Amino acid sequence: MPRYEYVCEHCGERFERTRRIDERDNALFCPSCGEEAKREISNFAVGGGSSISSLGSVRSLGCSTGSGGG
Ligand SMILES: [Zn+2]
Repeated sequence: MPRYEYVCEHCGERFERTRRIDERDNALFCPSCGEEAKREISNFAVGGGSSISSLGSVRSLGCSTGSGGG
């Protein structure tokens, strides 16, 4: 089974998990804090010399506000 890297946006913990391809998108919880972690997008090594313009769409992560302190 392939390994996937996950990163926790809560505490910043990064860990790898061996999961099935059809389960890679499933929710995973951080082993450190227990919050839901997201799958880290790893860069694939590309062959050739030509420059490949890969556009990485940066999606803004919403709903990340904690308890608003006065
Ligand atoms: Zn965490």
